[in-house]
Amino acid sequence: MQRVMIHKATYKDCRKAVDRAFDLFPQEIAGKKVVIKPNVLRTSTAAEHIVTNPMILRAVIEKVEEMSPAEIVVGDNPGLFNYGDNENSFISTGLMEAAKGYYKNIGNTIRQCAFHPDFLPEVGVSQEIMDADILISLPKFKTHGLTVMTGAIKNSYGILPGAQKARLHQIAGSPARFHEVIVEVFRLRVPDLFIMDAVVGMEGNGPASPDLRQIGLVLAADNAVAMDAVVATMMGLDPARLRFLQKAKEEGLGDFDPDTIEIDGELQVLADFKLPPLGGEAITGNPAISNLMSVRSRVRPQADPERCTACGSCVDHCPVSALFMQGDIPQVEADTCIACFCCQEICPEKAMSLK
Ligand code: SF4
Ligand code: SF4
Repeated sequence: MQRVMIHKATYKDCRKAVDRAFDLFPQEIAGKKVVIKPNVLRTSTAAEHIVTNPMILRAVIEKVEEMSPAEIVVGDNPGLFNYGDNENSFISTGLMEAAKGYYKNIGNTIRQCAFHPDFLPEVGVSQEIMDADILISLPKFKTHGLTVMTGAIKNSYGILPGAQKARLHQIAGSPARFHEVIVEVFRLRVPDLFIMDAVVGMEGNGPASPDLRQIGLVLAADNAVAMDAVVATMMGLDPARLRFLQKAKEEGLGDFDPDTIEIDGELQVLADFKLPPLGGEAITGNPAISNLMSVRSRVRPQADPERCTACGSCVDHCPVSALFMQGDIPQVEADTCIACFCCQEICPEKAMSLK
């Protein structure tokens, strides 16, 4: 039987819910490397509630610290294009301060992993995620224009650094196929524990909607399919109709059938919950957004010979070895480059521009 915790909470007292989550879903943390991944969509303020609240992150870190881990890493890959705003996203949301010095830019080191050939033969995943002994995912209770809701499975999309996220959006081509893509990404490293910020949730045109919803809950589970099924039900959706949950069940990742889920707490459907206006068509159905995705995911860096001093720093820092020196100027292998723009960020001469 799968189990999902639904615990009343405010941000001030959320530590009680976090303690309960670890009681229900025990993790052997002593001596292990623990990676904690909040949902950090982009630069914003905590008051906008588009990211996991810093007080939830802080409570989870303090709990983990008490369990004697060997190492804690806090990180995410915000944005679809990752134009060097990883730190800024953590700072502006208050997540950097909440991370107590454990923050790491996990977009800087990448491991190439085999992916589903229908989409891409391989993708680059943050090395820190793949190296985690225990991976704790901290999703946010939100709607999403393309996947209808975002939750435990969708939070794992952020294990991909750089513009791969945009590229996969584009390759998927339809909401239904994108639902399958997020399950394929999720499967690359299934987290061990999910603790969801549903104290203040989001309805309407998520994942960055102004329509906030006071829910007053923290959810937890060790199975993402069960957790997302509960979230869908709370939103007034039938989980069986969501393609990403169907696909996750087909892949043996869990079950959305309510008969297979034991609730620790009280499951209530949120009255008059506002779903995204276009129910899955908001992104791929919008030509302006599709065009932006297409253009941005094709952009590549190019060194300015007038500025470049051939220091080689960009070549050394490229996480997928897409750069090589040709004479005194770095060149990019366009098919290997994941458009993370670390090279642009790192260049001391501001010689890298985007073409
Ligand atoms: S880091 Fe900048 S200056 Fe150094 S080789 Fe690369 S482009 Fe040239
Ligand atoms: S060439 Fe630059 S933008 Fe492309 S993957 Fe390497 S560091 Fe990132």
